[in-house]
Amino acid sequence: MLMSIGVCFIFSAPSGAGKSSLIQALLHEKFSYKIQLSVSYTTRQIRPGEIHNEHYYFVSKPKFKEMIKQKKFVEYAKVFNHYYGTSKNFILKRINSGIDVFLDIDWQGAKQIRKKFPNSKSIFILPPSKAELLNRLKIRAQDDSNVIVKRMKNVVYELIHFFDYDYLVINDKFKNTVNEIKKIINCEQFRLHYCRKKYILLIKNLINWKNNTC
Ligand code: 5GP
Repeated sequence: MLMSIGVCFIFSAPSGAGKSSLIQALLHEKFSYKIQLSVSYTTRQIRPGEIHNEHYYFVSKPKFKEMIKQKKFVEYAKVFNHYYGTSKNFILKRINSGIDVFLDIDWQGAKQIRKKFPNSKSIFILPPSKAELLNRLKIRAQDDSNVIVKRMKNVVYELIHFFDYDYLVINDKFKNTVNEIKKIINCEQFRLHYCRKKYILLIKNLINWKNNTC
């Protein structure tokens, strides 16, 4: 179990719920503290428009397995037959220096992160309806129809894990959803574990009445 100053914000959702777009929009919002997105490693094929080092680090299966052996991941999982993992080094560096991190990971990864970082916060995003979900998957059209059908089947499997999360958000109207998640993130800065270090001098000063003059 690792205690940290920065907070890991976990985002999970069934494919097509709009999670990646929400995260991108949130990264462009103003917060009073630093937030960075964790770029995962994956063994899946690069999709059109994706950039190595930016969307993912695309690596081979043997390389990924080697990294598992070297304990380079703070969590990893097999999703849709491909491996995905979060860099331990990246996360520890950020949260130990008070930088919050966004993690776009599935429920298996979320489970591992919660265990290692008990002060992490997890947000589950739902689409507004089944029809809208299918629509979004088709519009995205990055995958062939077989993959879309497979992803639709996996929705249920992913969905049943929503009760492990701290927050549930419906992505109906995009701007509203961004604002709702912003509220969740802003709330965290008032948590004791977060404020304690920030306000330690003030607290010490308030406690130390001996030197106070009226
Ligand atoms: P995609 O291939 O569509 O980008 O992602 C498929 C799924 O893998 C998504 O649910 C995404 O959140 C999840 N994923 C991406 N990176 C990671 C990771 O590092 N760890 C885990 N556990 N899941 C990940």
